[in-house]
Amino acid sequence: MRLIILGPPGAGKGTQAKRLIEAYGIPQLSTGDILRSAIAAGTPMGLAAKEVMDRGDLVSDDVVNGIISERLDQEDCEAGFILDGFPRTIAQAETLDGMLEEKDMPLDAVVALVVDEEILVKRIINRAAESGEARTDDNEQVVRNRLKVYRDLTEPLVTYYGAQDLVKTVDGMESPDEVTAAIKKALTK
Ligand code: AMP
Repeated sequence: MRLIILGPPGAGKGTQAKRLIEAYGIPQLSTGDILRSAIAAGTPMGLAAKEVMDRGDLVSDDVVNGIISERLDQEDCEAGFILDGFPRTIAQAETLDGMLEEKDMPLDAVVALVVDEEILVKRIINRAAESGEARTDDNEQVVRNRLKVYRDLTEPLVTYYGAQDLVKTVDGMESPDEVTAAIKKALTK
């Protein structure tokens, strides 16, 4: 199973991706997680990405395209994968299409989580306040910027993949269990 999971920040993409890993025995490829590991390890890529991520802006296409191209060549991706947080722009999607064609790894579906953005902002801010270990990109102004970046640059991917007849739309406002069940159902159709 080769999947992309799409949705605004805080929609539960990461949570759902982790459940799908178990259900389908495939790895989650999260550019956000890989970038955060690079920051934690203090690599040059991490140092360059940190400031951009703290503002809620996007790191350059070259960086994330390179991360994903390398990751797709690892053995565990032979069984499939769930892309979480990539692609985030039409340019990234076009590059990904080329990579997948070259690697003979066609996508099976793009799961698009549909959510109420105002409720999301409150959720993300509460999560940050309660956890005490808030991500440095989780304050309100940054969250609003991440949502704007999503609307402007990432949401057009729903139309892009719709044209390839790959999109499965799922209501992301239900409980995590219900969302997982709805995704699995959509993928069997
Ligand atoms: P995420 O954990 O997916 O919300 O990503 C956190 C941050 O990492 C984003 O706000 C971006 O700054 C950066 N990032 C993650 N994935 C990408 C991507 N595909 N393109 C550009 N920036 C990304």
